[in-house]
Amino acid sequence: MDIKRELEQGLEKSIRDSRDYEVYVSLVELVNRLCAGKEQPSKGKKLYYISAEFLMGKMLSNNLLNLGIYDEVKKALEENGKSLEDIAEAEAEPSLGNGGLGRLAACFVDSMATLGLNADGVGLLYHFGLFRQVFKDNSQTELPDRWGDNHKILIPTKREYTVSLGGKDLKAKMYDIFVTGYKNGSRRLHLFDLEGVDEGVVKQGIAFDKKKTDKNLTLFLYPDDSDEDGKLLRISQQYFLVSAGAQMILEDCEEKGGKPEELHKHAVVQINDTHPAMVIPELIRLLIKKGVGMDDAIRTVSLTCAYTNHTILAEALEKWDYGLLKKAVPQLMPIIDELDKRIKKKYRDKSVHIKDENNRVHMANMAIHYGFSINGVAHLHTEILKNAELNHFYKIYPEKFNNKTNGITFRRWLLCANPQLSEYIEKLIGAGFKSDFAQLSKLMKYADDEEVLANIINIKKNNKKKLAGYLEKNCDITVPLDSVFDIQIKRLHEYKRQHLNALYLINKYMEIKSGRYPKTPITAIFGAKAAAGYVMAKDIIHLLLCLSQLAREDGKVSKYLNIVMVENYNVTKAELLIPACDISEQISLASKEASGTGNMKFMANGAVTLGTMDGANVEIHSLVGDENIYIFGAKSKEVMARYKAGSYDPKDYYDKNEKLKACVDFISGEALSKLGDSKKLARLRNELLTKDYFMALPDFEDYVEVKDKALDDYEDRMLWAKKMLMNIAKSGYFSSDRTVEEYNSDIWHLG
Ligand SMILES: *Cc1c(COP(=O)(O)O)cnc(C)c1O
Repeated sequence: MDIKRELEQGLEKSIRDSRDYEVYVSLVELVNRLCAGKEQPSKGKKLYYISAEFLMGKMLSNNLLNLGIYDEVKKALEENGKSLEDIAEAEAEPSLGNGGLGRLAACFVDSMATLGLNADGVGLLYHFGLFRQVFKDNSQTELPDRWGDNHKILIPTKREYTVSLGGKDLKAKMYDIFVTGYKNGSRRLHLFDLEGVDEGVVKQGIAFDKKKTDKNLTLFLYPDDSDEDGKLLRISQQYFLVSAGAQMILEDCEEKGGKPEELHKHAVVQINDTHPAMVIPELIRLLIKKGVGMDDAIRTVSLTCAYTNHTILAEALEKWDYGLLKKAVPQLMPIIDELDKRIKKKYRDKSVHIKDENNRVHMANMAIHYGFSINGVAHLHTEILKNAELNHFYKIYPEKFNNKTNGITFRRWLLCANPQLSEYIEKLIGAGFKSDFAQLSKLMKYADDEEVLANIINIKKNNKKKLAGYLEKNCDITVPLDSVFDIQIKRLHEYKRQHLNALYLINKYMEIKSGRYPKTPITAIFGAKAAAGYVMAKDIIHLLLCLSQLAREDGKVSKYLNIVMVENYNVTKAELLIPACDISEQISLASKEASGTGNMKFMANGAVTLGTMDGANVEIHSLVGDENIYIFGAKSKEVMARYKAGSYDPKDYYDKNEKLKACVDFISGEALSKLGDSKKLARLRNELLTKDYFMALPDFEDYVEVKDKALDDYEDRMLWAKKMLMNIAKSGYFSSDRTVEEYNSDIWHLG
């Protein structure tokens, strides 16, 4: 293909005379043309992966790589005075997701396309995403993330569906994004947008009139639902997604000549967490409208739908007030009533009922009863579901429960994000690993090869240099290149325990002030958005930003310790941060992190995990062995026993441990209060001292000890490099190709 000619036809001028953005647009058009040519006719049963989020990240580089024209395009641009890197900068990151669950969905569509499965994604087209995070006075503020202006990746379609909300008819218009598989066909991500949506209703920050559903429905992901209007809006968004999705699915089925009552032979719907669970009653409702009887409708839909559970945190297992549901989606209530009635007739155990005594509808319960599969997302998580959280369901339906340990697409997270490492691996073991990541294990034979280890260290150094350059330019902070890069990037949540990391850094700060210096300087990097209404999470961000300033402005300290909080953490930032990481912080309270996928990305890029026995850390540990991971803290059994006993008091730990006491008190002490809001800091200290619901204090001592051991081990660079290599070599298991293949062979059964 003559790339230059292809691009210049679109540009109607030379590449050299075009602006980066114009070249970007022309490249997207080329990618879309190529993808369209690679679409396969939809044959046999089709999988619909329905999700409130798809955290896609920038698409261009990944698409060029998967299409096999990355190098060719790069060269053509360079010959014409452009750089692909600059042009990729012109792309706005689609803001269609929030965290791990959305990123998983994005990795899955990549893998589905790569494996050539008959499968598409189904989601919503949020104009402003979650929000764009901006730091002001050491605190988080939120602005609309207006990513979509001129988003050429969106392809309008002719499909549109009417969705009734609160008795009013709204129109859902479908847009598609092409997803290219690696050296294979392309699939589509279908996104529904509200016709007539009005960006103008957003006034200050991310505030807007929540009542105007007919104007605001597809503006934001997870709008604040602390009041009734917010809850109604969330329900409305969810129903809009599932109703439009269900209509599309039935239309597809009909086009293939399928009978409505045999939907399960033509479609399988994977429900990503509870947000799209209403697809079950909606499909039943639509089938009944087509003349199918209630029993048959329930039967076929139950054979069509499968549910993935992503968390055991009670707050995330959605329960909607019956009255609110009735207000937003009255047409659905007879179906939900019927589903609930059938369960109540069969089971007296209230914990498995759909509608509870407080008139709340449990979405997960509905999905488990009326789906044919429920899966957890890592071994430990699924065991906890079976034996504790959902034990009552497990007893009824042992055959429905299964585990699908999460994965990541190495195309994005290794090949694109870390081209140097990827090329070097290819030199060592050949290109086979690029389509079969288990082959990374061939690296094992180099575990004691000093030349290889030195090269891996060198590649890490180059990635650190690149990140340091970015931090210098964008965060106005100079970090020593020879420091150890210790990184915790993920959504801000108490269970993820960024504040435990903060307590460690406070301790380190005090050590430095008293003349005890680390052998190698430490660069601690954070990136995290807190939900706009989540007070404690925002207080933790405030603490981190104040700490960052404290260390930065103290010349004696900053030689040894730098603390950086990257603004507006997203996929693009992750791609820059992860390849530069030495220590990957995965320190959630054991039993609380369902899987984590950040942990896998770091591992694949040669970072060593410092973590608890939680989520997929457990599997990382068994793959790499004690030598190549740093494990600390209470185990999940201990934690669950502690919760059950109900006797945990953080004060016991605070009183017993001088060092811990000093660190906790430091939070609201003079040094930080001078830099921030003493009210927020005192509130945070008080919370830790009186509640500490996620038990940071009991794990503090062990965390400090094990982290210091890791830093000590880092001094022996060759030994450390061996750990890096072992992590890379064992990471192939976490390819989302493996995960998706398991979904297909155990749940979807596509041709
Ligand atoms: C991978 C990823 C996550 C999930 O990270 P965890 O550490 O697994 O919570 C969240 N946000 C972004 C941008 C990611 O790329």
